[in-house]
Amino acid sequence: MTGDGTRCVGAGEGGAPGEPVRSGPVLSSTFHLGLPHDPPTRDLYGRADNPTWRAYEEAVGELDGGHCVAFASGMAAIAAVLRAGVRPGRAIVLPSDGYYLARLLAADELAPFGVEIREVATVGDWAAAIPGASLVLLETPSNPGLEVCDIRAIAEVARAHGALLAVDNTTATPLGQRPLPLGADLVVASDTKALSGHSDVVLGHVTCGDVLLADRVRRLRTQGGAVPGPMETWLALRGLGTLDLRLERQAANAHALVQALLGHPLPADLRWPGLPSDPAYPIASRQMRRWNGVLRFTLPSADAVGRFLDASRLVVSTTSFGGLRTSADRRARWGDAVPEGLVRLSAGCEDTDDLVADVLGALDAVHG
Ligand SMILES: *Cc1c(COP(=O)(O)O)cnc(C)c1O
Repeated sequence: MTGDGTRCVGAGEGGAPGEPVRSGPVLSSTFHLGLPHDPPTRDLYGRADNPTWRAYEEAVGELDGGHCVAFASGMAAIAAVLRAGVRPGRAIVLPSDGYYLARLLAADELAPFGVEIREVATVGDWAAAIPGASLVLLETPSNPGLEVCDIRAIAEVARAHGALLAVDNTTATPLGQRPLPLGADLVVASDTKALSGHSDVVLGHVTCGDVLLADRVRRLRTQGGAVPGPMETWLALRGLGTLDLRLERQAANAHALVQALLGHPLPADLRWPGLPSDPAYPIASRQMRRWNGVLRFTLPSADAVGRFLDASRLVVSTTSFGGLRTSADRRARWGDAVPEGLVRLSAGCEDTDDLVADVLGALDAVHG
C-alpha cells in the first residue's frame, strides 16, 4: 500500500485525456432518464445518488478499507447506524463518555419503544454489557475525554454474541485508525472535523466492511433523506487531499503543546493518547496508525478558561475541532459530565513555535 500522503492527494481522482483533473460538484437534483428503450441510467434523482457523492465515497472508503456511504452530518450517520443495528428485544450499548448527542438520540428515539440502552465508559467493562445486544458503538479516542478502548478485543466479544460493532472514528480520522481491519463491522464519523478540515462543511459517513450492510445503510439514507449536499461533499473531497499534511502539522503541534503544558503549573489532567506516559498510550499505540491534534487539560475554573482564551491571540474559542486554526472548547458549557475547567484543545496548522509561545503566554497571564 502507498503512503498516506500519496493516497490522500490521489483520492477520488481518475480521468481520461481531456477530462478535468478536478471535477466540480454535480448539483443537479434530477437526471435525464432517456426514453423507455434506452438503458437505465445510474443517476436518477439527487436523494438516491450523485456522482460527487460517489467520488467522495470511493476516496474515503479506500482509506477506511470498506464501502462508504456519505451522510449530511456525523449525527445523520450515527442515526443511520442506530437504525441499522436496532432489533426487537435486543439492547444497544453506547459509550457513556462519548459524543453526547448519540446518547440523547438513543434515549429520545429508541428507549420509548422499549429498546434497552446500556452505557459503558470507554475504559469500562464492555464484555459484560454486550450479551443480549444487537449493536455496540465505541468511540475511541473518545470525545472529549480522549480515553481509548481495545477495538480488536471488543470486536471478538461482539462477534461471539451476534452484535454489530460500530466505531466512531471522528477523532482519529481514517489515517489515524482503521477499525474495520481490527474487526469492527462499521465505521461512523463526523467529517465536519479533521477529515474535511477547513471548518466550512458539515458532513458525515458510514463505512462498512460488508457490501450488503453498506447497501442497507445506503437505503436508510435514501429513505431517511439525510443526504449530503453535493457542494459540501465536493469541499470535503477537496479537503481530504491535504489530510495527511494537516494531520502531520496538527500532531506535531499537539506534541509540542503537550510538552510545554507538562512544564506549566496550571493545567491539570493533561491527556493526549500519543504521549507515552498517557494511560491510553499502550492500547492507542497498538491500534492507531498515527496521532492527531486533539488534546485536553483542565484549568482551575470556568473563569480561568475565559481568561486563558482572552489572553491568547492564536487559540480561537469555538466548538468542533480538526480545523486549520487552533481552537479550544470548554466542554462543560454543552453539558458534558466533565469538570467546569476542562478544555478540549484542537491544535491547528500554525507554526509550532508561535503556537507554543502563545499558549504558554496565555497560561502565564491566567496564573498571574
Ligand atoms: C462532532 C461529532 C459528532 C457529530 O457530528 P456532526 O457532523 O456535528 O453531526 C459525532 N461524533 C463525534 C465523536 C464528534 O466529534
